[in-house]
Amino acid sequence: MTRRAAPLALVATSGTGKTTLAHRLVDGPGRYVFSISATTRPPRPLERDGVDYYFLTRRAFEERVERGWFAEWASVHNRMYGTPHSELDAAAERGDHVVLDIDIQGARQIRDAVPDATLIFVLPPSVDIMMARLAGRGTEEPENIARRLESALDELQAVPEFDYVVVNDDLDECLLEIRSIVEQGEAPAPPEQDAEGMRRTIVELLEGEYSAYLQDSE
Ligand code: 5GP
Repeated sequence: MTRRAAPLALVATSGTGKTTLAHRLVDGPGRYVFSISATTRPPRPLERDGVDYYFLTRRAFEERVERGWFAEWASVHNRMYGTPHSELDAAAERGDHVVLDIDIQGARQIRDAVPDATLIFVLPPSVDIMMARLAGRGTEEPENIARRLESALDELQAVPEFDYVVVNDDLDECLLEIRSIVEQGEAPAPPEQDAEGMRRTIVELLEGEYSAYLQDSE
């Protein structure tokens, strides 16, 4: 069966390796292109304007919202993020799958606006690994890590809304699963119980040792 090159939205909690997955998907076989989002957050070291994101001032972002420039947009951790229509249109014209690395609010908008989009939730293998990846990035303040953990709770709650759920344990394995979902519509068994277990661990982490760690660092 030949499937139209529909957009692919990847949603995950922070520290799942989703951005790496999205870039590896684009660099690998198949017709995948990365959707470059606009954001009001400042660039991290090594990020380039027009490659990783279009970095905009809040005012420039809001003007584009007014002009209907975005297929979806959302405020995430007090910063604005959006997918320009032009990213979707250019890929559709070329027959490429456009890969959206977006948050849950954006994915819901894409689900409504682009009914043939494939939405995949990517889970980390465990909360420990997620924490290690968040801390390992080295660019986040402890407060930001706590905030991202709190968002992770909400995001994990949304897992049942997704048709497809994959676990990013082994990167290559996970890429294969994503490709077979997109290209053949084949789904692995949804590991929803993993998401529920992870939510419980994060609640314990936020209430227990992690809040103690935050107080120590003040
Ligand atoms: P980061 O600042 O770490 O690059 O991204 C923070 C969050 O914003 C991630 O969950 C990322 O997927 C999400 N995000 C990035 N671009 C977009 C976008 O265009 N729209 C939406 N809704 N979320 C985005």
